[in-house]
Amino acid sequence: MTSADPIANLATLIRCPSVTPAEGGALTALAAMLEPLGFTVERMVAREPGMPDIENLYARIGTDGPHLMFAGHTDVVPVGDEAAWTHDPFGAEIAGGEMFGRGAVDMKGGIACFVAAVARHIEKHGPPKGSVSFLITGDEEGPAVNGTIKLLEWAAARGERWDACLVGEPTNPDQLGDMIKIGRRGSVSGTVTVHGVQGHAAYPHLADNAVRGIVALTDALMDPPFDAGTENFQPSNLEVTTIDIGNRATNVVPGKATASFNIRFNDTWTAETVQAEIVRRLDAAAADERLRPGRSPVRYDIAWAERPSHVFLTRNNQLIASLSGAVEAVTGRAPKLSTTGGTSDARFIKDYCPVVEFGLVGQTMHMVDERVAVADLETLTSIYETFIERWFDNARS
Ligand SMILES: [Zn+2]
Repeated sequence: MTSADPIANLATLIRCPSVTPAEGGALTALAAMLEPLGFTVERMVAREPGMPDIENLYARIGTDGPHLMFAGHTDVVPVGDEAAWTHDPFGAEIAGGEMFGRGAVDMKGGIACFVAAVARHIEKHGPPKGSVSFLITGDEEGPAVNGTIKLLEWAAARGERWDACLVGEPTNPDQLGDMIKIGRRGSVSGTVTVHGVQGHAAYPHLADNAVRGIVALTDALMDPPFDAGTENFQPSNLEVTTIDIGNRATNVVPGKATASFNIRFNDTWTAETVQAEIVRRLDAAAADERLRPGRSPVRYDIAWAERPSHVFLTRNNQLIASLSGAVEAVTGRAPKLSTTGGTSDARFIKDYCPVVEFGLVGQTMHMVDERVAVADLETLTSIYETFIERWFDNARS
């Protein structure tokens, strides 16, 4: 059965040019791997006005619980500077023990290995004692509107229920076995606009320079620290990402300035409380007399970016133990349980079932010459296969 070979699976997937939002043949190729194993495969197209249609895939084997979901995406980021690649980004060429191609680690490699792990499990033990499903989107690297979030809603509306989920994103910083993700920080972005009074640089008493206001407000956003971190999370951190005034005249006092920021916050906060804290800081800085002696408070408004990402932490010990035990059994290394890094689609899945993340080494993701060590594909397949065995054993006992 060829789908038991993760290297062949990955080569097939890399050769599908599935740059978001294109399906590129990747989901069709995945379906062709899963159907011979006994999976029922469905394709779900998600639509949203003003956005390209996105193809997604849901496949399940088994009808009973316990039900384990594997989640991921077949879409990839653009190749970037194609001339800088040393191998065809959609060629899946192997050189020096590594397979090259866009999506090799993020995350066609994870999918290729999980398919192989399920195929091997079925070869050895027959169909799983419960159900296994694949929830695969074509819109993770894009706006993520027509992807996992809609696919989950669609499947849940049809009565699908899951007991646990493994996301196959690349989670290891240096070596396979470094790190499992058991949660993610939340993320909130916004834009602050300061309204002053434009005027002549030589007559500042008639003007109100918006630069003073934006400097005071952005400073208050960044200091002091929001917290010192928690047991499972790094300290929350806010970065001002741009300040825009756009004034080219040296004799004009600018009347308007904007600044954008993003905060990655831990479980000290919710999206709502962190927004309230940001407003509290802005109000305090705006009213601070020392910054604007004899003047009224800085006038500002704030616009929040749509859809904050909520912080989450998975506390399902059976799931975490099955995965970290499998990693240690295969690699001999105890993985760190981490909540670092950016957001992932796990933030949507956590509303349906406990979710953990483990995949390949992420070093070359999104880069020119994205590539994966061929040996890692074999190792990750063994880890996934061991995880499947342990998770079903534990879930049924
Ligand atoms: Zn990814």
